[in-house]
Amino acid sequence: MSYEILQADSGCPGEPTPNLEDYEQFRAAFDWDQARQQLARLPAGGLNIAHAAIDRWVLAGCGDRVAMRFIRRDWERRNFSYAELGRQSARFANVLAGLGLAAGDRVFTLAGRIPELYFTLLGTLKFGAVYCPLFSAFGPEPVRARLDIGGGRVLVTTLSLYRRKVLPIRPQLPELEHVLLTDARGADLPEGTRSFAELMATADDAWRIPPTDPESLALLHFTSGTTGKPKGAMHAHEAVVAHYATGRYALDLHPGDVYWCTADPGWVTGISYGAIAPLANGVTIIVDEEEFDAERWYRILAEERVNVWYTAPTAIRMLMKQGKELAATHHYDRLRHLASVGEPLNPEGVIWGQAVFGRPFHDTWWQTETGAIMIANFRSLDVRAGAMGRPVPGIEAAIVSVQRDPDGNPVAAEVVTTPDEQGELALRPGWPSMFRGYLGDEARYQRCFADGWYLSGDMAKRDADGWFWFVGRADDVIKSSGHLISPFEVESALLEHPAVAEAGVVGLPDPVAGAVVKAFVELKPGHEGSEELARQLIGFARKRLGAALAPRSIAFSDRLPRTRSGKIMRRLLRARELGLPEGDTSTLETNG
Ligand code: ATP
Ligand code: MG
Repeated sequence: MSYEILQADSGCPGEPTPNLEDYEQFRAAFDWDQARQQLARLPAGGLNIAHAAIDRWVLAGCGDRVAMRFIRRDWERRNFSYAELGRQSARFANVLAGLGLAAGDRVFTLAGRIPELYFTLLGTLKFGAVYCPLFSAFGPEPVRARLDIGGGRVLVTTLSLYRRKVLPIRPQLPELEHVLLTDARGADLPEGTRSFAELMATADDAWRIPPTDPESLALLHFTSGTTGKPKGAMHAHEAVVAHYATGRYALDLHPGDVYWCTADPGWVTGISYGAIAPLANGVTIIVDEEEFDAERWYRILAEERVNVWYTAPTAIRMLMKQGKELAATHHYDRLRHLASVGEPLNPEGVIWGQAVFGRPFHDTWWQTETGAIMIANFRSLDVRAGAMGRPVPGIEAAIVSVQRDPDGNPVAAEVVTTPDEQGELALRPGWPSMFRGYLGDEARYQRCFADGWYLSGDMAKRDADGWFWFVGRADDVIKSSGHLISPFEVESALLEHPAVAEAGVVGLPDPVAGAVVKAFVELKPGHEGSEELARQLIGFARKRLGAALAPRSIAFSDRLPRTRSGKIMRRLLRARELGLPEGDTSTLETNG
């Protein structure tokens, strides 16, 4: 296997040393109890995410530290200390008590990046209810479906989102008793809603978190819907042990750091790594209300003196599309660690990080189901461009070959020991943030396990040194003339061409080869799609990949279909090409 190696950063003067200095040694000595002990237990007994993320800092005398720096669309900044977040979340817990909620009830948000979302998250956890975020760009139907599956009793949202997305479907949600609006009061409140601010103003700002069983449910997160109907993954308070440990060891968070996770809090990353993991590590989180804008992002990284930045390949590719010159308008002297998640990170992206910021992007792999980072590139290790990295301490990962019955249920999983051989990425169950089930779909949950392994549904390889390499989702891998072709590998090769901004690769049925490779390509500004360019791209890919793997045909597209969280939906490319039903499109970017 050939790949570029980017050397581990030796640290600039004044920078803290990596939390995980020696991977092998640390991994051998690590157990989850160690991490558990670093998080204070709840005074009343048990373990509560909100206590580990907020109250323990206040009790330790660090309440004045800035927990959240909120940047409004118009650039006005507002700081919230740990003590302030403690009070606001206590108020919200009291609001829930006043509404007559019971432990285990479900509280949803449908909102953009606003402070009230974080008060709701933390207050709900303090109260002992279950928190579920909904992405603000969802249309009424995805909102209805998720509130219905989750049995939401309380929804926190804004006036305009309520009018557009909730009002039309409210009659179909008999369990939804309370709708609280963050930006309306008094006479402006539509019938059947209440004012979040008014309820908060009269609520007590002290709240004693009740004893919390670490196994009690805390979070409900819907998957992105890339491969089909979104599933509701349930997580327990115990998950914070993994959030904390992976924040510390994989993202290298140090107390007092300024940290920016660009994922929207409507998705699992925006909650687990946008709020819980960083707060449990005592850092300052940046929350920007505005949508993606390359110039704005560079300004935030520089002016906020961000130390650790966690973003996604789709965002990295959008920055790359705009060129290095734009990035060069600022200095990023405090930036210490760059990481990425959500989709495979093409080697081009890793290397671009090195060229522009002086450090590579560190890929991390995980899923809504795993609740926390499972495989990562670590600050103290060299980066193999294109690899997902190595398992985080406490995680046993393997490549397995799975046998399935005719209905697709796994019946056996055997570990593949030969290096570089492709198989399904599997994890040994038992880590703290492992999902506890899919809400309302026990059978689907059971189908994730065989022979003592959790089966991720992703295909990967493990090299002889223990690095994991992503191949593709099980459904996306292309079987052609006896080869197994990784769409990721083909897409990465195309991205090396100067005209290509994005690529989505699928297999189309072929009577001879079984399947042939077709690539859908989005071009960089200043390039036009033409037959000549298509021929050039095919030739370019052939040189890099060989004729068997290179695409047979290329189609140019202004915008590839993506999920709202930015993932290319290859199943839709395939269905559209073949005129097949599109399946669940509730998370498609252009809907809603
Ligand atoms: P659904 O399960 O509904 O089809 P989804 O799998 O996209 O949607 P998520 O849980 O948000 O929902 O995403 C997890 C998936 O994202 C992983 O299983 C993997 O396919 C992909 N992914 C995440 N990080 C990486 C990465 N670093 N490299 C490659 N793929 C990644
Ligand atoms: Mg998935």
